[in-house]
Amino acid sequence: MLKEVKTEMKRLVDYTLVVGEEEICDVRKLAKNLKNIRVLHISSTAYGGGVAEILHSLVPLMRDVGLNVEWRVIEGNEDFFNTTKKFHNALQGGDILFTEEMKRIYLNQNRLNASFFEGKYDFVIIHDPQPAAMLAYLKAPKYTKFIWRCHIDTSVPNSEVWNFLRGFLKKYNAAIFTLKKFVKNEVTFKRLFIIPPSIDPLNDKNRPLTIKEIDKFVRRFGVDPERPLITQVSRFDPWKDPLGVIDMYRLIKRDIPELQLSFIGSMSVDDPEGWIMYEKILRRAGEDNDIYVLSDLRGVGNLEVNAFQRSSNVIIQKSLREGFGLTVSEGLWKGRPVVGGNAGGIAIQIINGKTGFLIESVKEAAEKTKFLLLNKETADKMGDEGEKYVRSNFLITRQLKDYLSLFNSLL
Ligand code: UDP
Repeated sequence: MLKEVKTEMKRLVDYTLVVGEEEICDVRKLAKNLKNIRVLHISSTAYGGGVAEILHSLVPLMRDVGLNVEWRVIEGNEDFFNTTKKFHNALQGGDILFTEEMKRIYLNQNRLNASFFEGKYDFVIIHDPQPAAMLAYLKAPKYTKFIWRCHIDTSVPNSEVWNFLRGFLKKYNAAIFTLKKFVKNEVTFKRLFIIPPSIDPLNDKNRPLTIKEIDKFVRRFGVDPERPLITQVSRFDPWKDPLGVIDMYRLIKRDIPELQLSFIGSMSVDDPEGWIMYEKILRRAGEDNDIYVLSDLRGVGNLEVNAFQRSSNVIIQKSLREGFGLTVSEGLWKGRPVVGGNAGGIAIQIINGKTGFLIESVKEAAEKTKFLLLNKETADKMGDEGEKYVRSNFLITRQLKDYLSLFNSLL
């Protein structure tokens, strides 16, 4: 049996104040014909990264509206996750030496995980490439519909890896992508859905905090809430360009010497490269005591991330490639302008010049961030616009509606 992930209980009704009665009614209407349908989500990790973040909210809310939902994670050893991280990088356009050994490791583990699959479901949603090939080895009743949910930017994938994977993807009854432009034409999915991710306004990551709480959290790590602060929250991953973040901070620091930078990252079990990147970041940060490199290993959990985002004057997400970038919506939701790389899903969250700035280089990132630090009124206005934009587009109830519509249309 694949290992089940336990989630907290959540109630849709609690979201009424944030999203309004009408939205809640719409969700309930869509759930009406779906009572007790059996849904299984399969992903590679229960913690760390955007997929886990979303499922911790989506799964209990689907249950609350009457669906019978489970979330299970695959098993994998270091070799497997090293391999799938290379796949991930290659699918986002990175270089890879794609070997037979890698294919073997990937397929063997998918076969093994398929052998752990039990139970009867109406829908099985398989998240991302790590478990994508399981379907080829599964025995499931005919009525079970399999959906592949791709969370990454596959607009210019390495062709070798993509060609290898697409044979497995063709077997799915449907696929979900974040953006239309991530869908490669060579795979014709039986059904294709475009669903951008979303954040949960009531979880510890995003719920309101008092100024006192915010100050207490950031002071605990040595940050001075009276001085300007910029923050990037992201896994220690080259695509998030952490070294570029330090370089841009240095450029701004020349003119704003009291500036502080917090870089909050996490170590995910399916991301073995994290430690290498972590060391690189520390080396680049050197002896600068105004750079705070923090992680879950030092007790920076959801509430702390929330406090750092709220304490920041500007949120940075300098990614070079990005499936979506939940951290952008997280920042905007807190009324902070976001300076983000003009990549993938970031570009649908930042309205350039209105909710923040889309940037193409370290220099541009530094210029725009400096502008926001020096022009508080504009920064506040952009933050307000950002909050409104997230409220209408990137909250969990919208994503819940999208999933329920998808189930209705596939039944
Ligand atoms: N995150 C976190 N702590 C960290 C790093 C990341 O809580 O140290 C969270 C972050 O707040 C966000 C998610 O992990 O909710 C990352 O999602 P995103 O879509 O930004 O990137 P991904 O990791 O999926 O590429």
